[in-house]
Amino acid sequence: MKHLSALNKYFWKYRVRFLAGIIFVIVSNYFAVLAPEVTGYVIGQVQQYISGNHTSVKENYSASIVVLIRWMRNLNFKNLVIVCSLTILLLALLRGLLMFFMRQTLIVMSRHIEYDLKNEIYNHYQELDAGFFKTHSTGDMMNRITEDVSRVRMYTGPAIMYTANLIALITLCLVNMLRKDMYLTLVVIAPLPILAITIYIINNIIHKKSERVQALLSDLTTNAQESYSGIRVIKSFVQEKAMFGFFSKNSEAYRKNAVSLAKVEAIYFPSMTLMVGLSTLLTILIGSNMALHNPDKVGIIVEFVLYINMLMFPVSAIGSVASMVQRASASQKRINEFLNTKPIITNPFKHNKKDEILSGSIIFKNVSFTYSHTGVKALKNISFEVKAGEKIMILGKTGSGKSTLAQLLLRFYDPDEGSISIGEKNIRNINLKNLRNYISYVPQDIFLFSDTIANNIRFGLKKDSSADEIKQYANYAAIHNEILSLDKGYETMVGERGVTLSGGQKQRVSIARALLKKGHVMLFDDCLSAVDSKTEHTIVNNLNEFLNHKTTIIITHRIFVSIPFDKIFILDDGVIVESGKHDELLAANGYYAELYNLQLHEEETVN
Ligand code: ADP
Ligand code: MG
Repeated sequence: MKHLSALNKYFWKYRVRFLAGIIFVIVSNYFAVLAPEVTGYVIGQVQQYISGNHTSVKENYSASIVVLIRWMRNLNFKNLVIVCSLTILLLALLRGLLMFFMRQTLIVMSRHIEYDLKNEIYNHYQELDAGFFKTHSTGDMMNRITEDVSRVRMYTGPAIMYTANLIALITLCLVNMLRKDMYLTLVVIAPLPILAITIYIINNIIHKKSERVQALLSDLTTNAQESYSGIRVIKSFVQEKAMFGFFSKNSEAYRKNAVSLAKVEAIYFPSMTLMVGLSTLLTILIGSNMALHNPDKVGIIVEFVLYINMLMFPVSAIGSVASMVQRASASQKRINEFLNTKPIITNPFKHNKKDEILSGSIIFKNVSFTYSHTGVKALKNISFEVKAGEKIMILGKTGSGKSTLAQLLLRFYDPDEGSISIGEKNIRNINLKNLRNYISYVPQDIFLFSDTIANNIRFGLKKDSSADEIKQYANYAAIHNEILSLDKGYETMVGERGVTLSGGQKQRVSIARALLKKGHVMLFDDCLSAVDSKTEHTIVNNLNEFLNHKTTIIITHRIFVSIPFDKIFILDDGVIVESGKHDELLAANGYYAELYNLQLHEEETVN
């Protein structure tokens, strides 16, 4: 339960709705318990009318019913029955109306809380750092924001409504029943706790079984999904039969569990009906026995049977409410776990510092970095400087630490040792948003959103960029013509719901996006790896022109000769092993020279 206290702030936020809801619950139940009283009264009257035995009715009724009875004193018998029937109808209508308001307040409140909670979680996810996303699966995060939130909603809405309803109804019924006959009351409510406990136990069994069924279903879905995605591999290896065998095995496990769940569910309603029947039977048995000695009690028997039937649903709901709260608490615990995770990378400034101007050299000084969750030492004591306006290339094999270096500059991670600064300022002391706005970054793992190509290029700051501007940058990235050749041109949808672009096309859309951002520093991480060498030349030439005065860091595992780099760093296993200009490095006859000759040879063979 203590986990759920995280939700109290929302109850406070919606306190007016909450309070109004509780009042509606109480008033609707007040009207509900008046109806059996009127019924009991009128039956008593009928009984007296038939037996001709006109004793005055003892007035142990609710105050409002007493008023009604006094008012009806002068009516003849026929009119009295009509008035009572109309009163019962009116009470039912009033109750219905109030129940409508009760749902409108309490259930609507729970929907508001659900909305707020989802936003809170989503926002918090966005605050968390790259390390968090590396160590938690997307599926897990998705589950917490959807599945867990909807379980929590069951607590903030239905569970609270049922509990309030139960407390109000039981209290009001008990007051009325005890006032009429204490002995009969105690006897007829005796089976109720047994009912509540039985339902609770059955509910728990149902819950466990349905969790299992859910898990099996998700296995089954994953299994099917993988088969569809990998259909070409399956067909080419002629593995259809084996895959079907695998699927039907999973399917069989699902069926078995679902059938067993259905069995338990089938017990639910009969056991509830059994308990209701038992209580009704007790009321009639004991009541009739009493009525034999005291005919005035006939009305009370009817009244009690009505109360018992009224109490059944709320009492049987105790079980389900208890398990709802248990589940909500477990879910909230999982949600809190993430909400309480503090990002390691934080913005040193809470508010935007618009006037913060960044300029000058980018300096890495003795930077070392280890990925904490794997212990991989990706960078070891790296030092270098990129002066404003310089173009540098960082060259290295895969796994040498190039992407890590780019991510440290953007503060996706902070170095363990050493410092990174831009113009004297340690990047830890720069407003994070300004830092990231300062750099146009093309990541190695390209990501396009399920949106149009134009929107993917104008993503981010440049919402208002004109179509011409977008085309211009697409041209720089040598993708313009290819976009035009698509049916809908720039309005073509990409991603899951749209066309599938090739790896090289995605890279170029991503480059256009970064160029349009017009950061002061261009940081390209291996973003031409999937582009053929002719297109690569075109892009590099375009960039050469565009990047004229911009500080540019190009990370690559292939050498670009078309850009006259001011400096080239060779990275190997997290260490800078060579550095210098093109000619110096060739003369040094090291790794760079070797790679250069290899590449030259390759190009000659290709051309
Ligand atoms: P490059 O970009 O030069 O191919 P990376 O910077 O991606 O190299 O990787 C450097 C080293 O760090 C590699 O050994 C790689 O396995 C490891 N590494 C990269 N990213 C992560 C990560 N998110 N978590 C753990 N280890 C990583
Ligand atoms: Mg890389």
